[in-house]
Amino acid sequence: MATGRSDVGKVRQGNEDALLLRDSVYAVADGMGGHLAGEVASATALEPIEELDGRIFQDNAAAVTALRAAVTAANERVSQLARDNPNYRGMGTTLTAALVEGRRLHVAHVGDSRAYLLRDGHFSQLTDDHTLVQHLVDEGQITREEAARHPQRSVVTRAIGVSDDVDVDSMSLELQPGDQLLLCSDGLTGVVEDEAIARTLMEVEDPDEAISDLIDLANAAGGPDNITVLLLRYEDPDAEQAPQHRTISISSRVDSDSADWAGEMGRYASLTKGGPLLDPDQDSDGRSVGAILGKATAIVLALAVFVGVVLGGSQFLLSRSFFVGVDGNQVVIFEGINRELGPFELYRVTERSEGTIDEVQLWYRPQLESGFPAAALGDARNLVRNIPLREVEEEPDPNTEDGDADPDPEA
Ligand code: MN
Repeated sequence: MATGRSDVGKVRQGNEDALLLRDSVYAVADGMGGHLAGEVASATALEPIEELDGRIFQDNAAAVTALRAAVTAANERVSQLARDNPNYRGMGTTLTAALVEGRRLHVAHVGDSRAYLLRDGHFSQLTDDHTLVQHLVDEGQITREEAARHPQRSVVTRAIGVSDDVDVDSMSLELQPGDQLLLCSDGLTGVVEDEAIARTLMEVEDPDEAISDLIDLANAAGGPDNITVLLLRYEDPDAEQAPQHRTISISSRVDSDSADWAGEMGRYASLTKGGPLLDPDQDSDGRSVGAILGKATAIVLALAVFVGVVLGGSQFLLSRSFFVGVDGNQVVIFEGINRELGPFELYRVTERSEGTIDEVQLWYRPQLESGFPAAALGDARNLVRNIPLREVEEEPDPNTEDGDADPDPEA
C-alpha cells in the first residue's frame, strides 16, 4: 500500500517538487531553477524511473543496475533540456527513487530528499544528504544538531541535471511485513524532527491521514518550502496483491511573477567530482596543525569557488541567495551566503522590515537568529510576512490595570 502527496507549503508560489507512485516504483524529486524550470526538472527526472514500473529483473543486481541507470538517464534528460532551452539553464533536481521487487527494496538517490525506514519502532534514514552541511558534519566541523538549524542546510552538493555526469548512491535491503518506507523532500525534514515523523508513522493508522499529518506539521512550522511525502507500507507479499494506489495530489499556487527565478540557484553548491569540498579527507582524529590548515584551506577554496559563481556555469548564482535574519534587533533580509570567513562577511542587508526580534515568538527566535534561507527575494519577503509573532496581550502590564485577584507581593 502506497500513498503520496505534495503540498506547496506556506511560502512558495509554485510547487517544484514532484512525486511518482506506481506499482513497483516510487520517487520524490525536488526541482530547482525557479519559474517553471524547477517543475520541469523534477517531472523530467521521474520519467526514466517510471519506465521501470512493472519490469521483472533477473536478479537483485540487475534491478539495482537498472535503477541506477534510470537515475543516470534522468540526469542526462534534465541536463539535455537545460542545455537546449535557455529558460531552463541551470535547473536541476534531487531524486530519491525506490524500486520494490518482491521482498527486495532498492533505493537510488542524489541530493537531499530522503528515504527513511521505520521497522519495529526504529526509524532510520537510509539516504545520506548530499548537502554542504552534511559535508561539514562528516568533517567534524559542525554537529548534527547545528546542521539541522544551519542557514545553508538546503544547499546541495549533488543534483540531477547540473552536469554531464552524476554520482548515484544506491542501497538495497530485504523488506519485512510491517515496514514503512518514507520518501520525502526537505520541505518536511527541514522543519519537522525525525522523532515527530516517526511518531506520526507509528501512531496514525490510516496512511492518508499519516501523510496529511506530516504535511500539517511542516506547514505548522512555517511551511517554508514545498512538502512532498510518499509512504509505502509493506505488507506480506504472499497476499499476492499489487499495491493499491491511494491519492496523489500536488498543490500549487497560481504561479505569478517570475522576477526572481534566478534566486533559486542559491540552493546549489554543486562542486563537481574532485572539487575541494568533495575530497574525502583523512579521518578527523588526531589532526595535525597542518591537517587542520589543509582543511581550512580546502574550505576557503571551496567557498571561494562557491561564492564566485562557481563552476564556469553562470547558473550558480550564489550571490542571489537570500536569508532572513536579525540585524541588531531588527528583522532583515540578507543577500548572500550566511557564513563568515574570518573577517569576511559573505552577506549584506538587502531589505529591512519593520519587525523586531522581540515581537517574534520565543520558539522561533533561535532559528531566526541563525538565519532562515530563502531561494529568492520574494520567498524571503514571504518568510518575513509569515514569521510567527507573539500574541499582543501576552504580557499584561500589572501596573496599568486595576488590581485583580492577583495581589502584588511587592506592593
Ligand atoms: Mn525543497
